[in-house]
Amino acid sequence: MLPLNSLQVVAAVDPSGERDVVVVGAGILGLAVARELHRREPGRSIAVLEREDEVGFHQTGHNSGVIHAGIYYVPGSLKARLCVQGARELYELCEQKGVAFERCGKVIVALDESELGRLDELERRGIANEVPGLRRIGTEELRELEPHATGVAALHSPDTGIVDFPGVARALADELRVAGVEVATGCGVTGARAAGGRLQLTHSLGETRARFAVFCAGGWSDRLAVKAGAGPDPRIVPFRGAYLKLKPERRELCRSLIYPLPDPDLPFLGVHLTKHISGEVLVGPTALLSPSRDAYSLATVRPRDVVSTLAWPGTWRMARRWWRTGTVEMRYAASRAAFAREAARYVPGLNAADVEPAFAGVRAQALSRDGKLVDDFVFSHTERALHVRNAPSPGATSSLAIARMVADEAEAGL
Ligand SMILES: Cc1cc2nc3c(=O)[nH]c(=O)nc-3n(C[C@H](O)[C@H](O)[C@H](O)COP(=O)(O)OP(=O)(O)OC[C@H]3O[C@@H](n4cnc5c(N)ncnc54)[C@H](O)[C@@H]3O)c2cc1C
Repeated sequence: MLPLNSLQVVAAVDPSGERDVVVVGAGILGLAVARELHRREPGRSIAVLEREDEVGFHQTGHNSGVIHAGIYYVPGSLKARLCVQGARELYELCEQKGVAFERCGKVIVALDESELGRLDELERRGIANEVPGLRRIGTEELRELEPHATGVAALHSPDTGIVDFPGVARALADELRVAGVEVATGCGVTGARAAGGRLQLTHSLGETRARFAVFCAGGWSDRLAVKAGAGPDPRIVPFRGAYLKLKPERRELCRSLIYPLPDPDLPFLGVHLTKHISGEVLVGPTALLSPSRDAYSLATVRPRDVVSTLAWPGTWRMARRWWRTGTVEMRYAASRAAFAREAARYVPGLNAADVEPAFAGVRAQALSRDGKLVDDFVFSHTERALHVRNAPSPGATSSLAIARMVADEAEAGL
């Protein structure tokens, strides 16, 4: 593996001129797409353009760090198929590249009899999605796996794991660089226009003309798609997810991953306890509409992002349906005690004194004009370009499998 300061060398790259393919965004998805396209045809000229000074900064660097096994997703959906394949490939990649991971397993807990129907449904989905090793367990086995958790039954997924996603992104960027693929950081794309059989991309380092471009811009994907000629639907509405963490002396409260049963109508998994690859145990995340697409601090309020969310008709339709859930989430965001009480439903020994603030991530969640939080991965085309319009969780787990699908489409458009 190359030293990390190789990324600074990458920053000096000048990506201007002609390329076969440009990938916009060096999160885990953009990097995986560039790698896949390069591996298929090493002679192809490819440039990855990333606005930040480092790769994997936004969602890739601010998430739960879980390799999902594919349990939750509607059978036949892209999420179901790509998550199961992607998890398998991601484990292999981590082994090859020496990126830290642990196949630590997870439990999804039914707290009482009233939740058993939803547990049944998840089990059905997991089996239909061919999730390896998924099994129903009772109270005793739950106690053996997670001595501090409570519940009447659970699903145990031994194949769920944890990983250093930013480490994966750095490993992919290093592989690309060694192979001669440019990864230009500090290169924000500001415009995209099809002309003369090429896509002309303007950016902070100049201009690049590409035969085809793939946009993997996460929280800004809708804006770039519109610039390239796509319609505005769906819009990205940012959902902030704040985490607490267990104090070091209380980490024994959770051995691996303890999850609630999610609301089947929402694309979020609920407040969970997650062992992180660093050894910390995260509690969270919350899910609250965010005042900016990069609101890692609550003080980051961007008028353009606020207006974009409030001016979208889908936001108001969503709010009419979900205002009660929004109020509960606001309570968790405002009160550490309320947040800790939610987690304590699964781990009764936990209280507000056991936790401290950790970090926050911002989900790039697509919201349709009619107010639906788009659940599945969404891709769309404009002339000479493909746009990843919705790649929320388990997008990081699925990245290598998504990359194969995207590369097929890109090759058809080249
Ligand atoms: C709180 C939270 C928890 C999550 N937990 C998990 C989990 O446990 N497991 C899992 O599999 N997934 C999880 N996810 C989802 C996962 O993080 C995403 O699916 C994944 O990181 C998406 O990768 P990406 O490359 O599309 O996005 P990003 O990592 O956001 O990358 C997009 C990149 O595009 C760049 N960009 C944007 N605009 C421009 C521009 N104009 N010019 C150049 N570059 C630009 C950005 O700077 C950024 O680097 C979670 C997400 C969040 C927010």
